[in-house]
Amino acid sequence: MECLKGKSAYAGVALGKIAVLSKQDYVIKRKKIDSPEHELERIEKAKEKSLEQLQALYDRAVVEVGEANATIFEVHQMMLEDDDFNEEIENIIRTEMVNAEYAVAKAGDDFSQMFASMDDEYMKARATDVKDISERLVRNLYGKEDNDLNYSEPVIVVADDLSPSETVQMDKNKILAFVTVHGSTNSHTAILARMMNIPALVSTPLNLDELKSGMEAVVDGFTGEVYINPTEEVKNQALEKIQKEKEKQELLLTLKGKENVTKSGKEIKIYANIGSVSDVGYVLTNDAGGIGLFRSEFLYIGRNDLPSEEEQFTAYKQTAQMMAGKKVIIRTLDIGADKQADYLELGEEENPALGYRAIRICLSQPEIFKVQLRAILRASVYGNISVMYPMIISVEEVLKIKEIMAEVKAELTEQGMPFKDIEEGIMIETPAAAMISDELAELVDFFSVGTNDLTQYTLAIDRQNQKLDPFYNAHHKAVLKFIKMAADNAHKAGKWIGICGELGADLTLTKTFVEMGIDELSVSPSMVLKVRKAVRDLD
Ligand code: PEP
Ligand code: MG
Repeated sequence: MECLKGKSAYAGVALGKIAVLSKQDYVIKRKKIDSPEHELERIEKAKEKSLEQLQALYDRAVVEVGEANATIFEVHQMMLEDDDFNEEIENIIRTEMVNAEYAVAKAGDDFSQMFASMDDEYMKARATDVKDISERLVRNLYGKEDNDLNYSEPVIVVADDLSPSETVQMDKNKILAFVTVHGSTNSHTAILARMMNIPALVSTPLNLDELKSGMEAVVDGFTGEVYINPTEEVKNQALEKIQKEKEKQELLLTLKGKENVTKSGKEIKIYANIGSVSDVGYVLTNDAGGIGLFRSEFLYIGRNDLPSEEEQFTAYKQTAQMMAGKKVIIRTLDIGADKQADYLELGEEENPALGYRAIRICLSQPEIFKVQLRAILRASVYGNISVMYPMIISVEEVLKIKEIMAEVKAELTEQGMPFKDIEEGIMIETPAAAMISDELAELVDFFSVGTNDLTQYTLAIDRQNQKLDPFYNAHHKAVLKFIKMAADNAHKAGKWIGICGELGADLTLTKTFVEMGIDELSVSPSMVLKVRKAVRDLD
């Protein structure tokens, strides 16, 4: 058995035979030609055919993965018509007097390398798109058909990389999982896999030459691992996980589309918490009404520099588009304490949980904060986005945030960048915020209670310290009183209040929260339907 670790693009477990997808390799010969005009004519014809194929792929993708995700094929059509790309092809043909196939392949390689060398992760991922269209054009010049991607039995597709068009052409009932050697979690292929609800790993160090279609494998999209020729033990564990997932799915089927209403008719919203765009598919399959907490700091962690405005904009925009009008609450950078990013050089602290973190960093380094606010505002036109600020302790902080927000909006207006006037909320996760929630409620549109930190700070118990687990009591009366106090103050001011800490998913408290008048519970996607059941079972 061989076990390899890649990056999970979508969770889920699969056990089955692999199908190794080898690229149709043509040896693209460089031939001298006499008539550049003739080659350019051939390219025009191949382009027409490619545009037709892309239109068919777009139509299919709209049905399979929705309009927002299908736009990638519109983008491919636009790329095919791109002036720079076409001029480069023409240039190669005319100056080198070479055949169309060679010129297209060369221009495709040049453009794709240019994208691949860019710093911005989003632009980097576009290298695959350029290769996809140039390969399509070459195929059509040779008069070859697309790769046959219709498998007769369900398989785990293993490939060097998968282009969006290959992904969408596959019959999703025949795909157990995708595993690719290259590709980023930000690629459209990864996004499509998520939308199709198929476990997927990218950046997996497989040696494709050693793999043969028909070999057995287990893909664990939770851990990012793939096992080739798995042992009986690994297979049994996988089967157990698959069974558990199936049970969840069954529960989902019975509750999907149902309202979160108690027997006496009281309604509560149930949203989901996410850490990255890759979680959105899970939010949708679990039928959450929205995203109540997008922990944006995960975009900042595990890398060597700050994420750019474009990178963040793309992540927020994709999330908003995939949620198709449902609410997406983005929490601004909540770094520090247990969530560290070395490049920010936050320094050693005696008491990191009480230290330089979250909104304190953003208010001290507004240049970092502003980039994030710009990205959030710019993404707001693509869906229903709200913003929420963590670790608030004072009215002054909220007033300062409002000032910065106003500056950012003025800049965007001046630059002609569109944005919406989004809802702004704060987290209630410090005793101070709960105590002055009457004043804070006047300044914001909503509250969301971070019970993980609220418990830590109320009980003076480090949430990271395992030794203190026996003392960490999130049901402590003091914590519940703070939540009730914040709920009453929010409602007095005509504002709404949610809970996005782990306590929101505590089914023994669902009744208490409904009675308190909590308007929204945001829980991990896998808990959405369980909480829905608890709400529906209430009298
Ligand atoms: C919380 O503190 O309850 C919360 C939701 O935020 P985090 O767990 O990310 O600190
Ligand atoms: Mg918190």
